[in-house]
Amino acid sequence: MRGVVRFAPRAREQLITHCRSVLPNEACGYLVGDEEHVERFVPVRNAAASPSRFVLDVQEQLAAEHAIDAAGETIVGIAHSHPIGDNYPSQIDVEDARRFDPSGAWVHVVVSPATGSVRAFRILDGDVEELSAQP
Ligand SMILES: [Zn+2]
Repeated sequence: MRGVVRFAPRAREQLITHCRSVLPNEACGYLVGDEEHVERFVPVRNAAASPSRFVLDVQEQLAAEHAIDAAGETIVGIAHSHPIGDNYPSQIDVEDARRFDPSGAWVHVVVSPATGSVRAFRILDGDVEELSAQP
């Protein structure tokens, strides 16, 4: 059975609004919540400032991790946008996932700012499995 990830409506809204606010570049940030439930989105600056690539700004990344930890919350995944093309993980996304999520524990969300489509995936050993992203 296909895995499910549930989004609090506020989290989905935050995510899409943020992705649109940084156009034409890709947006990125953390998904915070509880296992398969995303409670909120925490934006992190895209240090690459590119429409086709994202790199979490190291300082903002550490600050976000610290704040999430201090609030007793958990990072359940990472989200970024694809201003151009399909919102499906690119080859680079799959390679990146191998580095920062080697055990495939995270939900990887890719947003299309143009359509507001939010898709969720698990990425393990180069294999991409789409999850059902539900409210
Ligand atoms: Zn991507």
